[in-house]
Amino acid sequence: MPRLSLQMRVVVACSVAAAMWAVGLLAWRFSGAPAPLVFFGYLGTVLAPGIAYYLGLPAHRRLTGRRVLTVGLAVGMFAAALARALFQQSVVQVEGLLFELLAGVFGAAVLHFLIAKLLGPLLFGRVYCGWACWTGMVLDLLPYRISKGRLSGAWRWLPYAHLAASVALVVTLTLGFGYVPGPAGALAWFLGGSALYYALGIGLALWLKDNRAFCKYACPAGLLARPAARYSLVKVAGNPEKCNGHAECIAVCPMDIRIIDYTRLHLRVLSSDCILCQNCINVCPDGALSLSLGVEAHGIELLRLR
Ligand code: SF4
Ligand code: SF4
Repeated sequence: MPRLSLQMRVVVACSVAAAMWAVGLLAWRFSGAPAPLVFFGYLGTVLAPGIAYYLGLPAHRRLTGRRVLTVGLAVGMFAAALARALFQQSVVQVEGLLFELLAGVFGAAVLHFLIAKLLGPLLFGRVYCGWACWTGMVLDLLPYRISKGRLSGAWRWLPYAHLAASVALVVTLTLGFGYVPGPAGALAWFLGGSALYYALGIGLALWLKDNRAFCKYACPAGLLARPAARYSLVKVAGNPEKCNGHAECIAVCPMDIRIIDYTRLHLRVLSSDCILCQNCINVCPDGALSLSLGVEAHGIELLRLR
Protein backbone atom coordinates (compact mmCIF):
# COMPACT_ATOMS: atom_id res chain seq x y z
CA MET A 1 0.00 0.00 0.00
CA PRO A 2 1.51 3.40 -0.95
CA ARG A 3 2.29 6.09 1.63
CA LEU A 4 -0.89 8.12 1.99
CA SER A 5 -1.24 11.88 2.32
CA LEU A 6 -2.15 13.29 5.73
CA GLN A 7 -5.70 14.07 4.59
CA MET A 8 -6.25 10.52 3.33
CA ARG A 9 -4.82 9.06 6.53
CA VAL A 10 -7.17 11.17 8.64
CA VAL A 11 -10.13 10.07 6.50
CA VAL A 12 -9.19 6.36 6.71
CA ALA A 13 -8.43 6.53 10.45
CA CYS A 14 -11.64 8.41 11.31
CA SER A 15 -13.71 6.01 9.17
CA VAL A 16 -12.26 2.98 10.93
CA ALA A 17 -12.72 4.58 14.37
CA ALA A 18 -16.32 5.53 13.56
CA ALA A 19 -17.06 2.00 12.30
CA MET A 20 -15.62 0.44 15.47
CA TRP A 21 -17.54 2.77 17.77
CA ALA A 22 -20.73 2.12 15.75
CA VAL A 23 -20.30 -1.66 16.12
CA GLY A 24 -19.67 -1.22 19.85
CA LEU A 25 -22.73 1.01 20.30
CA LEU A 26 -24.95 -1.40 18.35
CA ALA A 27 -23.69 -4.40 20.32
CA TRP A 28 -24.25 -2.49 23.58
CA ARG A 29 -27.74 -1.47 22.46
CA PHE A 30 -28.79 -5.02 21.59
CA SER A 31 -26.95 -6.98 24.29
CA GLY A 32 -27.37 -4.49 27.13
CA ALA A 33 -23.82 -5.31 28.24
CA PRO A 34 -21.21 -2.51 28.18
CA ALA A 35 -18.30 -4.89 27.41
CA PRO A 36 -18.62 -4.71 23.56
CA LEU A 37 -18.74 -0.90 23.72
CA VAL A 38 -15.56 -0.80 25.82
CA PHE A 39 -13.83 -3.33 23.56
CA PHE A 40 -14.77 -1.85 20.16
CA GLY A 41 -14.37 1.67 21.53
CA TYR A 42 -10.85 0.78 22.63
CA LEU A 43 -10.07 -0.78 19.23
CA GLY A 44 -11.40 2.25 17.38
CA THR A 45 -9.48 4.63 19.61
CA VAL A 46 -6.21 2.70 19.20
CA LEU A 47 -6.70 1.95 15.52
CA ALA A 48 -7.35 5.55 14.47
CA PRO A 49 -3.93 6.98 15.41
CA GLY A 50 -2.30 3.59 14.72
CA ILE A 51 -3.52 3.47 11.11
CA ALA A 52 -2.70 7.14 10.55
CA TYR A 53 0.82 6.47 11.89
CA TYR A 54 1.34 3.23 9.91
CA LEU A 55 0.05 4.51 6.57
CA GLY A 56 2.22 7.62 6.91
CA LEU A 57 5.41 5.58 7.19
CA PRO A 58 7.65 4.93 4.20
CA ALA A 59 7.47 1.26 3.20
CA HIS A 60 10.88 0.34 4.65
CA ARG A 61 9.80 1.52 8.13
CA ARG A 62 6.48 -0.32 8.17
CA LEU A 63 8.00 -3.56 9.45
CA THR A 64 8.76 -1.70 12.69
CA GLY A 65 5.50 0.23 12.46
CA ARG A 66 3.49 -2.99 12.37
CA ARG A 67 5.11 -4.16 15.59
CA VAL A 68 4.16 -0.90 17.31
CA LEU A 69 0.56 -1.16 16.10
CA THR A 70 0.25 -4.81 17.10
CA VAL A 71 1.23 -3.97 20.69
CA GLY A 72 -1.78 -1.64 20.93
CA LEU A 73 -4.15 -4.12 19.29
CA ALA A 74 -2.94 -7.22 21.11
CA VAL A 75 -3.02 -5.54 24.53
CA GLY A 76 -6.69 -4.68 23.86
CA MET A 77 -7.41 -8.26 22.79
CA PHE A 78 -5.72 -9.62 25.90
CA ALA A 79 -7.62 -7.22 28.17
CA ALA A 80 -10.94 -8.18 26.52
CA ALA A 81 -10.17 -11.89 26.92
CA LEU A 82 -9.22 -11.34 30.57
CA ALA A 83 -12.49 -9.48 31.15
CA ARG A 84 -14.43 -12.37 29.60
CA ALA A 85 -12.69 -14.85 31.89
CA LEU A 86 -13.36 -12.64 34.92
CA PHE A 87 -16.94 -11.55 34.27
CA GLN A 88 -18.39 -14.14 31.86
CA GLN A 89 -16.42 -17.23 32.96
CA SER A 90 -15.56 -17.74 29.29
CA VAL A 91 -12.07 -18.81 28.21
CA VAL A 92 -11.22 -17.47 24.76
CA GLN A 93 -8.76 -20.26 24.01
CA VAL A 94 -9.10 -23.66 22.35
CA GLU A 95 -9.85 -25.37 25.67
CA GLY A 96 -12.55 -22.79 26.44
CA LEU A 97 -14.11 -23.40 23.03
CA LEU A 98 -14.20 -27.14 23.76
CA PHE A 99 -15.73 -26.60 27.22
CA GLU A 100 -18.51 -24.48 25.68
CA LEU A 101 -19.14 -26.92 22.81
CA LEU A 102 -19.39 -29.89 25.18
CA ALA A 103 -21.75 -27.94 27.43
CA GLY A 104 -23.88 -26.86 24.44
CA VAL A 105 -23.28 -23.20 25.32
CA PHE A 106 -22.95 -20.42 22.73
CA GLY A 107 -20.60 -18.27 24.78
CA ALA A 108 -17.79 -15.79 24.17
CA ALA A 109 -15.29 -18.51 23.22
CA VAL A 110 -17.58 -19.89 20.47
CA LEU A 111 -18.24 -16.34 19.23
CA HIS A 112 -14.51 -15.52 19.26
CA PHE A 113 -13.64 -18.60 17.24
CA LEU A 114 -16.47 -18.02 14.77
CA ILE A 115 -15.27 -14.48 14.12
CA ALA A 116 -11.48 -14.84 14.44
CA LYS A 117 -10.97 -18.36 13.07
CA LEU A 118 -13.82 -18.92 10.61
CA LEU A 119 -15.68 -15.88 9.25
CA GLY A 120 -12.75 -13.44 9.59
CA PRO A 121 -10.27 -15.73 7.78
CA LEU A 122 -12.71 -16.19 4.89
CA LEU A 123 -12.40 -12.44 4.31
CA PHE A 124 -8.98 -11.41 5.62
CA GLY A 125 -7.08 -14.68 6.02
CA ARG A 126 -5.04 -14.94 9.20
CA VAL A 127 -4.78 -11.19 9.72
CA TYR A 128 -5.55 -11.86 13.40
CA CYS A 129 -2.26 -13.82 13.65
CA GLY A 130 -0.32 -11.05 11.96
CA TRP A 131 -1.76 -8.08 13.80
CA ALA A 132 -3.83 -8.87 16.90
CA CYS A 133 -2.72 -12.07 18.64
CA TRP A 134 -1.20 -11.34 22.03
CA THR A 135 1.13 -14.34 21.77
CA GLY A 136 2.30 -13.46 18.26
CA MET A 137 2.82 -9.82 19.33
CA VAL A 138 5.38 -10.82 21.95
CA LEU A 139 7.05 -13.34 19.64
CA ASP A 140 7.54 -10.62 17.01
CA LEU A 141 9.59 -8.63 19.53
CA LEU A 142 12.16 -11.44 19.93
CA PRO A 143 15.50 -11.20 18.05
CA TYR A 144 15.04 -13.96 15.43
CA ARG A 145 13.04 -12.12 12.77
CA ILE A 146 14.71 -13.81 9.80
CA SER A 147 13.67 -17.45 9.72
CA LYS A 148 16.05 -20.12 8.49
CA GLY A 149 13.17 -21.99 6.88
CA ARG A 150 10.52 -24.52 7.79
CA LEU A 151 11.35 -27.76 9.55
CA SER A 152 9.74 -30.76 7.89
CA GLY A 153 8.96 -34.32 8.98
CA ALA A 154 7.35 -34.81 12.38
CA TRP A 155 7.41 -31.05 13.09
CA ARG A 156 4.46 -30.41 10.78
CA TRP A 157 2.26 -32.73 12.84
CA LEU A 158 2.96 -31.05 16.19
CA PRO A 159 0.03 -28.55 16.01
CA TYR A 160 -2.31 -31.49 15.39
CA ALA A 161 -0.81 -33.29 18.40
CA HIS A 162 -1.32 -30.17 20.54
CA LEU A 163 -4.94 -29.88 19.42
CA ALA A 164 -5.54 -33.61 20.05
CA ALA A 165 -4.05 -33.28 23.56
CA SER A 166 -6.33 -30.31 24.32
CA VAL A 167 -9.39 -32.22 23.09
CA ALA A 168 -8.44 -35.30 25.12
CA LEU A 169 -7.88 -33.22 28.27
CA VAL A 170 -11.16 -31.31 28.06
CA VAL A 171 -13.22 -34.37 27.08
CA THR A 172 -11.73 -36.38 29.96
CA LEU A 173 -12.35 -33.60 32.49
CA THR A 174 -15.88 -32.87 31.27
CA LEU A 175 -17.26 -36.32 30.48
CA GLY A 176 -15.08 -38.32 32.89
CA PHE A 177 -15.21 -36.10 35.96
CA GLY A 178 -18.14 -33.76 35.29
CA TYR A 179 -15.76 -30.78 35.56
CA VAL A 180 -17.10 -27.32 34.67
CA PRO A 181 -14.80 -24.28 34.99
CA GLY A 182 -16.37 -21.88 37.48
CA PRO A 183 -15.30 -18.25 37.98
CA ALA A 184 -11.91 -19.15 39.51
CA GLY A 185 -11.46 -22.02 37.04
CA ALA A 186 -12.04 -19.81 34.00
CA LEU A 187 -9.45 -17.30 35.21
CA ALA A 188 -6.97 -20.09 35.98
CA TRP A 189 -7.44 -21.68 32.53
CA PHE A 190 -7.00 -18.33 30.78
CA LEU A 191 -3.94 -17.18 32.72
CA GLY A 192 -2.40 -20.66 32.84
CA GLY A 193 -2.98 -21.20 29.11
CA SER A 194 -1.54 -17.80 28.24
CA ALA A 195 1.53 -18.42 30.42
CA LEU A 196 2.02 -21.84 28.82
CA TYR A 197 1.77 -20.37 25.31
CA TYR A 198 4.29 -17.65 26.18
CA ALA A 199 6.71 -20.12 27.74
CA LEU A 200 6.43 -22.54 24.82
CA GLY A 201 6.51 -19.76 22.22
CA ILE A 202 9.55 -18.01 23.64
CA GLY A 203 11.32 -21.32 24.31
CA LEU A 204 10.75 -22.57 20.75
CA ALA A 205 11.82 -19.22 19.27
CA LEU A 206 15.10 -19.23 21.20
CA TRP A 207 15.75 -22.91 20.53
CA LEU A 208 15.00 -22.83 16.78
CA LYS A 209 16.16 -19.21 16.30
CA ASP A 210 12.83 -18.38 14.71
CA ASN A 211 10.41 -15.89 16.30
CA ARG A 212 7.26 -17.48 14.87
CA ALA A 213 8.24 -21.12 15.53
CA PHE A 214 5.29 -21.50 17.92
CA CYS A 215 2.86 -20.42 15.19
CA LYS A 216 4.36 -23.00 12.80
CA TYR A 217 4.83 -26.00 15.09
CA ALA A 218 2.60 -25.67 18.13
CA CYS A 219 -0.40 -23.35 17.98
CA PRO A 220 -3.78 -25.12 17.78
CA ALA A 221 -5.63 -21.82 17.25
CA GLY A 222 -3.63 -21.04 14.11
CA LEU A 223 -4.31 -24.56 12.92
CA LEU A 224 -8.08 -24.03 13.28
CA ALA A 225 -7.89 -20.83 11.20
CA ARG A 226 -6.04 -22.46 8.30
CA PRO A 227 -8.95 -24.12 6.41
CA ALA A 228 -10.92 -20.87 6.10
CA ALA A 229 -7.76 -18.83 5.41
CA ARG A 230 -7.11 -20.99 2.35
CA TYR A 231 -10.18 -19.43 0.71
CA SER A 232 -9.54 -15.90 1.94
CA LEU A 233 -10.86 -13.06 -0.19
CA VAL A 234 -7.84 -10.86 0.60
CA LYS A 235 -4.44 -12.25 -0.30
CA VAL A 236 -1.02 -11.03 -1.39
CA ALA A 237 -0.61 -10.95 -5.17
CA GLY A 238 2.59 -10.58 -7.19
CA ASN A 239 3.16 -9.04 -10.60
CA PRO A 240 5.60 -11.30 -12.51
CA GLU A 241 6.47 -8.46 -14.90
CA LYS A 242 7.80 -6.33 -12.03
CA CYS A 243 9.39 -9.07 -9.90
CA ASN A 244 13.22 -8.87 -9.98
CA GLY A 245 13.63 -12.38 -8.50
CA HIS A 246 16.02 -11.23 -5.74
CA ALA A 247 13.85 -12.73 -3.00
CA GLU A 248 13.93 -9.86 -0.49
CA CYS A 249 10.29 -10.75 0.22
CA ILE A 250 11.06 -14.36 1.12
CA ALA A 251 13.85 -13.31 3.49
CA VAL A 252 11.46 -11.26 5.64
CA CYS A 253 8.49 -13.63 5.54
CA PRO A 254 8.05 -14.89 9.11
CA MET A 255 6.12 -17.93 7.84
CA ASP A 256 8.67 -19.18 5.24
CA ILE A 257 6.37 -18.73 2.26
CA ARG A 258 7.91 -18.91 -1.22
CA ILE A 259 6.19 -15.78 -2.46
CA ILE A 260 8.21 -15.60 -5.68
CA ASP A 261 7.13 -19.07 -6.73
CA TYR A 262 3.46 -18.12 -6.41
CA THR A 263 4.19 -15.03 -8.53
CA ARG A 264 5.98 -17.09 -11.17
CA LEU A 265 3.00 -19.43 -11.33
CA HIS A 266 0.67 -16.42 -11.76
CA LEU A 267 -1.03 -17.35 -8.48
CA ARG A 268 -1.84 -15.21 -5.48
CA VAL A 269 -0.11 -16.29 -2.26
CA LEU A 270 -2.42 -19.22 -1.56
CA SER A 271 -0.64 -20.57 1.49
CA SER A 272 -2.91 -20.90 4.51
CA ASP A 273 0.12 -19.94 6.62
CA CYS A 274 0.17 -16.34 5.36
CA ILE A 275 -0.60 -14.04 8.29
CA LEU A 276 -0.99 -10.92 6.11
CA CYS A 277 1.79 -9.13 7.98
CA GLN A 278 2.69 -7.42 4.66
CA ASN A 279 6.43 -7.56 5.34
CA CYS A 280 6.91 -8.90 1.80
CA ILE A 281 4.96 -6.03 0.26
CA ASN A 282 6.87 -3.44 2.25
CA VAL A 283 10.38 -4.65 1.38
CA CYS A 284 9.83 -5.21 -2.34
CA PRO A 285 11.91 -2.48 -4.04
CA ASP A 286 10.01 -2.82 -7.31
CA GLY A 287 6.47 -2.62 -5.94
CA ALA A 288 5.70 -6.06 -7.38
CA LEU A 289 3.53 -7.17 -4.46
CA SER A 290 0.22 -5.84 -3.21
CA LEU A 291 -2.93 -6.88 -1.42
CA SER A 292 -5.64 -8.13 -3.75
CA LEU A 293 -9.21 -9.39 -3.77
CA GLY A 294 -10.10 -12.71 -5.37
CA VAL A 295 -11.54 -16.17 -4.94
CA GLU A 296 -9.74 -19.47 -5.45
CA ALA A 297 -11.25 -22.92 -5.13
CA HIS A 298 -7.98 -24.59 -4.19
CA GLY A 299 -4.83 -24.02 -2.22
CA ILE A 300 -1.19 -24.92 -2.65
CA GLU A 301 1.44 -24.73 0.09
CA LEU A 302 4.82 -23.54 -1.20
CA LEU A 303 7.13 -23.26 1.80
CA ARG A 304 10.88 -22.69 2.09
CA LEU A 305 12.39 -25.67 3.95
CA ARG A 306 15.54 -25.63 6.09
S1 SF4 B 1 -0.59 -19.05 15.10
FE1 SF4 B 1 -1.41 -18.97 17.20
S2 SF4 B 1 0.15 -17.90 18.43
FE2 SF4 B 1 0.62 -17.54 16.26
S3 SF4 B 1 -0.37 -15.63 15.87
FE3 SF4 B 1 -1.84 -17.21 15.24
S4 SF4 B 1 -3.15 -17.55 17.06
FE4 SF4 B 1 -1.33 -16.38 17.72
S1 SF4 C 1 3.57 -13.93 2.42
FE1 SF4 C 1 3.93 -11.77 2.94
S2 SF4 C 1 2.10 -11.15 4.08
FE2 SF4 C 1 2.13 -13.40 4.06
S3 SF4 C 1 3.20 -13.99 5.96
FE3 SF4 C 1 4.75 -13.88 4.33
S4 SF4 C 1 5.58 -11.79 4.47
FE4 SF4 C 1 3.63 -11.82 5.61
